[in-house]
This record gives sequence, C-alpha cells and structure tokens, in this order.
Amino acid sequence: IPAEFQQALPVLRKLTKAGHEAYFVGGSVRDVLLNHPIHDVDIATSAFPEEIKQIFPKTIDVGIDHGTVLVLEESGQYEITTFRTESSYQDFRRPDHVEFVRSLKEDLKRRDFTINAFALREDGEIVDLFNGLADLKQHILRAVGNPHERFFEDALRMIRGLRFVSQLGFTLEEDTFAAIKENNQLLEKISVERINIEFVKLLLGDYRNKGISAFISSQCFEYCPQLAGKSQELLALSHLPEMTINYESQAWVLLLDQLNVNETDIRSFLKKWKCSNEMIKTVQAVFHALQVRKQKEFTSELLYQLGEKQALLTEELLPFYGKEANPAKVRHDYQLLPIHSLKDLAVDGNDLMNYFDKKPGRWLKELLTFLERAVICRQVTNKKEVLLYIAEKKQIESAQ
Ligand code: ATP
Ligand code: MG
Repeated sequence: IPAEFQQALPVLRKLTKAGHEAYFVGGSVRDVLLNHPIHDVDIATSAFPEEIKQIFPKTIDVGIDHGTVLVLEESGQYEITTFRTESSYQDFRRPDHVEFVRSLKEDLKRRDFTINAFALREDGEIVDLFNGLADLKQHILRAVGNPHERFFEDALRMIRGLRFVSQLGFTLEEDTFAAIKENNQLLEKISVERINIEFVKLLLGDYRNKGISAFISSQCFEYCPQLAGKSQELLALSHLPEMTINYESQAWVLLLDQLNVNETDIRSFLKKWKCSNEMIKTVQAVFHALQVRKQKEFTSELLYQLGEKQALLTEELLPFYGKEANPAKVRHDYQLLPIHSLKDLAVDGNDLMNYFDKKPGRWLKELLTFLERAVICRQVTNKKEVLLYIAEKKQIESAQ
C-alpha cells in the first residue's frame, strides 16, 4: 500500500472497528495500480453520514446531501462518502436525489468506467467486481454495465471517457465508444460548467492528440460551445506536436489559435465556455503575445505589460509552432527591465502635481504613461530629476 494510502489507513480502521465497511475508491486506486502519482484519496463506507460524524470528532459537511463528509484528522483531510445509488435521473443529468445503501456492490455499480470502479480494502485486497483489472491491463475504457443506459443517466460520462483517453492513453471499448457516438447529442443537456472541467482535463492530458481524435470521431464536439462544425480545425489541433500542455490558459490559447478565432472574439468565446474573467484576461494577453512572439523577440514594453508569468506562459508555447523556447532568457530579460510596475517609477502623481502646481486630470495620467514608457524603453533613466526634466519638456511641447 503506497504512502498516501498509508496515511489514510487509520481512518479506514476507525470505520471498520466501529463495525462498518470502508474502502479506498475512485481515481486514486486506479492511479496507484497504474503507478501514477495520486492526489486525493476517496473513501467509501457503509456508514451513514450521522454515523461517520459519531466516529470522528472533527468533520465538515461538504456534501451531506450526497453523503460526503470531510473528516479532519491530524494526518490530513479525507472525503468519506456513504455507499449510494443514484436513482431518479432527470434530463440525462446527475441525479438530484441519491439513496444511501449498505452494499459496496451497489456503490461500485453507479461508477462510470470499470477502471474507476475498484475498491481497495485496508488489507490491500482489491475488490474488482467488473473486471476492471483486465481492462486496466489492456488499456481499455469500458463503461460499467450497459453503456447506453449509463450515458443516458449522466451524459457527462461521455466527455469523462474522452478525457481519460487523453490522460491515460487508453482506448474506449467498442460498444462504449459506439454508445458515445450514438448519444453525443445528450451533451446539450449537461451544464457547460461540468463539460468545461472535463474538457480542460482532456486538453491537458499526456495523450492529448489521442483524446482529441476520439473527441472528433465521436462527434461530441458538435455539442460543445463554439465547436460545432469545427472538425477540420480540431484535427489541426490534434496534429500539434506531442507535448503536454502545462496550464489551462495555454490550452485555450492553442485551441483558439487553431480555430482561427479573432483576438476580439476571445472574450465571447470563453464566456460561452463559462471561463472566469481572470482566465479570460490571461488567455487574451497570452494569445496576443504569442502572435507577436511567433514573429520576433519580446520587446521590453510587451514583457513589462505581460509580467513574468504570462511572458513565460507565452514562451513555453513556441515549441508547438516548431520554434525553440528560451524561458531562461525571458526570465533574465524580465529581471533586467528598468521598472516592473508604475510603483517603481521614480516620480508619482503627487510629485508631478506639485512640480507643475496643477490639479489631477487627464494630463497626469498621460504624462505618467509617457514617462513609464520612456523608462521601460530605456530612453531615459529612472531618476527623479531626469523624469521631471523630461516631463517639463513634454508639457511645453504639448502646450505648443
Ligand atoms: P481524477 O484523478 O481526475 O480525480 P477520478 O477518477 O478520481 O479522476 P473524480 O471526478 O474525482 O474522477 O471522481 C471520483 C470517482 O467517482 C471516479 O473515479 C468514479 O468512480 C466516480 N465518478 C465521478 N464522476 C462520475 C460520473 N459522472 N458518473 C459515474 N461515476 C462518477
Ligand atoms: Mg478524483
């Protein structure tokens, strides 16, 4: 049993000592079997939420309706979820009603793919009710049970299947893939927020090109925001060099670039995908910088505008266009900029108002911007006397 599970083992033991069943479940069990690093360990138990809370002194109700309790132990925080079935599906979405059950089998049955339906016992024994181990060995993604029914229950599972193709490099089993192809229009019923999460994971997967190919051939893209009719453009995306994309913003930039989206349309595109304003701003900046950087080196001004982080996000994308990235040089050039923000300028608004004995107004903003630019482009040194002298010359010029 790997370290992450070791740490959580006492939590399982406390549940079983109290007479309940308890297992590690979900993606972490799959990832351990694949020798992949694991993030969060999920625990499933026959104990009902009230019973869980009696056993552990410190808990938080993070999803009590769905039977999930966060347990705070000295060794860490663990999500414990009561075995459940998901009855009464409405509109092909996640059910709003879940039923707690005492049977592990019922809980594993509701899970999406066989490789996500393992349970790991505290003694290290794997419970594999759906032949997930065989599928894992053969790198197959197979729906648990009847794929049609499962995608009807929750259409998001189709996009999840595609993102696991991209993350693991596995292949969707024939009937499972056929069911995705046949039911792809059900994606229209799914909230964009949920699709977004899975789609971003698809774009960031180590086997992205395989994932995008499956996304195209399943025709799921026809029911995703802004992607209908874009098979050729997506194909171009799937032909980019096989390199993992590190950050979500970079994934959007590459997608938008392959789709030939206009810089001015980025905002509305990403709004349709329900991206945050912060994400949109980063994508806009990196997209713009990339178009410049494809042609020539960063100017001091652009480096300054971007900041180090966005400049590096841009630089790292060059290899996707057959160009060499030089992040060390970007970092170096950025450090060498005379100033890194307006705060670093040797004069501020007050200095200028005092010097010219004028009230604030548009002139002040314009003058500060002028001085800022002159310093960044190394036309003048960042010294107060110098800047005031330059400012005065500029004021006389613009008065004429
Ligand atoms: P990751 O490593 O990205 O977290 P994961 O497999 O753990 O992958 P989660 O979204 O964290 O994915 O879900 C945890 C587990 O819950 C899954 O492994 C699966 O068993 C089950 N699950 C999650 N979403 C669904 C769904 N829509 N339908 C059925 N089962 C699901
Ligand atoms: Mg998970």
